[in-house]
Amino acid sequence: MILSVQGVRKVFGSQVVLSSLDLDVDEHQVVALIGASGSGKSTLLRCVNLLEEIDDGMIWLDGSHITDPRVNPDKVRQRIGIVFQSYNLFPHMTVLENVILAPVRVHGRSSKEATDAAREWLTRVGLGDKADAYPDRLSGGQQQRVAIVRALINSPRLLLLDEVTSALDPELVGEVLSMIRDLKGEGMTMVLATHEMGFARQVADRVCFLDGGKVLEQGPPEQVFGDPREPRTRQFLSRII
Ligand code: ADP
Ligand code: MG
Repeated sequence: MILSVQGVRKVFGSQVVLSSLDLDVDEHQVVALIGASGSGKSTLLRCVNLLEEIDDGMIWLDGSHITDPRVNPDKVRQRIGIVFQSYNLFPHMTVLENVILAPVRVHGRSSKEATDAAREWLTRVGLGDKADAYPDRLSGGQQQRVAIVRALINSPRLLLLDEVTSALDPELVGEVLSMIRDLKGEGMTMVLATHEMGFARQVADRVCFLDGGKVLEQGPPEQVFGDPREPRTRQFLSRII
């Protein structure tokens, strides 16, 4: 098992966003988080990446307890890639510079080694010729693919994707989804929050429906989408599909 979220609670002020939430993810699995806006999908991903402090419970990555206060968050983030809806590339840096910034500045890798790894990844995803371009010369889909490469550069054990296609024009969504499908083919373990049920159905091994701060229902996509057990899941799906 790569990720184990155990009894996690997250509160903002008086609002309980996650409450005794459990989630396990096995190696090479792709898990899709679905649920209404505000159900805590992004918060959960941010807690896993230690961008939010949890109020109770534990999170384990690859057998180590990462929410132990003695753990260095930078070390954990080296093993977890995260990509957001807004790709946040630095406009004054080339694609290559964007990709190697964190490995070199934060994680202490040599510039040569990071550059070689970055070029290899960019080539693999069909962006080899864009390494020296500035982000504004790239389409939104290409920029998001660069953001995914940036998250992959440390060879993370786990990739977290938060609505990575939501900001894209519809005609650019396909190239990003196809990159994610390729990553799945290569065995990358992923947890993705999405409101694209079609995509969740295609790529996910397991779909988790978040409601009331918990995973209310989970199972293979065919089951959750085709024959949901919980009335609240059914209600959510009937509104969205
Ligand atoms: P989702 O991604 O499923 O739409 P979020 O995790 O973004 O849901 O948000 C869950 C709830 O937590 C929402 O009500 C949101 O307003 C609240 N929330 C998220 N981040 C913060 C924050 N930094 N401060 C206060 N409230 C927050
Ligand atoms: Mg969100």
